[in-house]
Amino acid sequence: MSATEVDFYELLGVSRDADGATVKSAYRKMAMKYHPDRNPGDEEAEARFKACSAAYEVLKDPQKRAAYDRYGHAAFQQGGGGGGHPGADFSDLGDIFETIFGSAFGGGGGAGRARPRRGADLRYDMQVSLEEAYHGKNTQITVEVAATCETCEGSGAEPGTGRRRCDLCHGRGKVRAQQGLFVIERPCPNCAGRGEVLEQACSDCRGEGRVDKEQSLDIEIPPGVDNGTRIRLNGKGEAGPMGAPSGDLYIFVHVKDHSVFQREGTALFTRVPVSFTAAALGETIEIPGLDGETHSIDIPAGIQSGKQLRKRGAGMPVLQGRGRGDLVVEVIVETPTKLSSRQKDILREFRETETGDECPESRGFFDKLKTAFGA
Ligand SMILES: [Zn+2]
Ligand SMILES: [Zn+2]
Repeated sequence: MSATEVDFYELLGVSRDADGATVKSAYRKMAMKYHPDRNPGDEEAEARFKACSAAYEVLKDPQKRAAYDRYGHAAFQQGGGGGGHPGADFSDLGDIFETIFGSAFGGGGGAGRARPRRGADLRYDMQVSLEEAYHGKNTQITVEVAATCETCEGSGAEPGTGRRRCDLCHGRGKVRAQQGLFVIERPCPNCAGRGEVLEQACSDCRGEGRVDKEQSLDIEIPPGVDNGTRIRLNGKGEAGPMGAPSGDLYIFVHVKDHSVFQREGTALFTRVPVSFTAAALGETIEIPGLDGETHSIDIPAGIQSGKQLRKRGAGMPVLQGRGRGDLVVEVIVETPTKLSSRQKDILREFRETETGDECPESRGFFDKLKTAFGA
């Protein structure tokens, strides 16, 4: 949990399922401890007192408490909606909340007023072969990403130095400007809304809290990936500024074209030329698959060019599923182009025996022509 989201329950020191009486007595204890009358002139105590009061305002009311449980602080921030009670006390809570951090909790760990931004998501494009897409692949990639600076552990402060209150906004993180009738609040330009500035910027990251670093990452490409498959590596993106959470790294998979197989979803297509004798007499052909197995495909006698034969379960694996798609073989009947004179003689002899019934399609076509042209 980031510091700007210190929990109302934590603030009062009660568990999330504490009943009303427990919440009340915890609040009374805190209120006594931090009451301004008991801590005259102590700004931190005052801020803490206000924060506990704000927390109690919410937790004592079942409806507000429910909204808080569901939406967190967002329920009470201006424009956040979801609270159901957009009264003045509610819209003020966010502000009170932000105010306490510089004073009550901001001293040590680099807590700021502005909500810490998550680091950016990154994209890495990876080419894989169809074989690799078939089998899956464990590999290592090297990416240069903004990583948390080790010298300052992401705080941006030179080791041994801390932060001090921003002079411009006096720690509020916001500055006000009069515009006509309105007072406009905007993030303080001096401290970027954090309310604090570094005493001395870390010399390694110049106060960024991040440095570009080469990182080796182990990547597991699961079997069945396709073009456009994205693999998310949680938290392997850019480090957030000032120790904020990192973004994610997305591997975008691109599957390279294969010389033999084309892929469509889980189906693998290939064209196989067969001799005209094999097409006429039938034959079993063998196709080496991506799995390293050899798939036997029966070519039935009399097959025509362009006919597709399907072998179930010999295609691509289903990504993160069970089973495999189909292998689809399109038969191309190849007419011989280099015949010996003996072969030509045999074919001529064969032609002598033709009655026209051997190729019904040809016959049908010429019959149709005759009818059409009255020949
Ligand atoms: Zn640093
Ligand atoms: Zn400032």
